[in-house]
Amino acid sequence: MIAGEPSARDVDVPSSPLVAPAPQPFPELCARIHARVAAFLDEQHDSERLKSLQAQTRISLDIICEALEKYRLPELSLAYNGGKDCLVLLILYLCALHIKGLTPADPNADPDTAIKCVYIQAPHPFQEVEDFVAASVKTYSLHLLEYAKPMKAAFTDYLRDVPVVKAIFVGTRRTDPHGEHLKHFDPTDSGWPPFMRIHPVIDWHYVDIWTFIRHLNIPYCKLYDCGYTSLGGTDDTHPNPVLAKKNSNGSVLTTPNGTKTAYFRPAYELVDDYEERLGRDR
Ligand code: FAD
Ligand code: MG
Repeated sequence: MIAGEPSARDVDVPSSPLVAPAPQPFPELCARIHARVAAFLDEQHDSERLKSLQAQTRISLDIICEALEKYRLPELSLAYNGGKDCLVLLILYLCALHIKGLTPADPNADPDTAIKCVYIQAPHPFQEVEDFVAASVKTYSLHLLEYAKPMKAAFTDYLRDVPVVKAIFVGTRRTDPHGEHLKHFDPTDSGWPPFMRIHPVIDWHYVDIWTFIRHLNIPYCKLYDCGYTSLGGTDDTHPNPVLAKKNSNGSVLTTPNGTKTAYFRPAYELVDDYEERLGRDR
């Protein structure tokens, strides 16, 4: 998507969120998610963007279902950091679990049915991200292990702690650093701990992610409503300057007491894939 095209701001947002914060039985949760995704796929749209998002959603669901055929559930995990891309991936994963009939009453009662996730904490994490990850664990009945070390070392530890894991879903997209040449299934590169990476949303654009989140009314980390478009740590992440609110004369708005702190529009108003990381120092 390129600048000048509409953002996800004008998407129709259903009045009820996709999930309530209070946990509900896992089979009901996945059935509810499946019903809303299926209803979205059945909708007739004139908008090219929504038609293309429906096609991308079908592709992603097919890849997740293929992964569930290639691997047993205990062999699969999801790299989850509370960000928008892996949130969409999580929703599609839970939808696919419903399709495949893999939704026991209590997935955490048995290691073979747990919905495995792995979260690598940034050296200086945002409290809002920590809170959202913790809330996700409850809402979606996830079995999440957390590591506070660099990624390669964290995944080495993860495979040592959970050696049954053979493949990990990752929410990387084509326009991310290192995303350009990835396929749906890629073994890790040499020098990385060995496992299969699965990239179901690799071909989604930034606007697709936000259109999906808003069209299904999926609760997301509140930092995105403050102009953050890509989440790292507090030491390297700022609201995206492209989203700074401007006066009619084009100057950046300031707070009522005149300080130069800009107000920011929400993340879903950004359009251009390549502007997503302008709030990141690295
Ligand atoms: P994001 O857009 O936030 O990340 C993209 C996705 O990566 C997220 O949706 C999420 O699924 C996952 N992710 C990112 N940060 C975290 C985190 N802190 N905790 C949990 N999940 C996270 N790089 C290589 O060069 N070669 C490899 O073989 C390789 N294997 C990887 C395997 C996995 C499972 C992961 C998660 C990363 C791997 N990487 C590898 C690193 C990857 O290329 C990115 O550098 C990294 O994911 C950070 O992504 P990003 O900055 O684009 O952030
Ligand atoms: Mg991302």
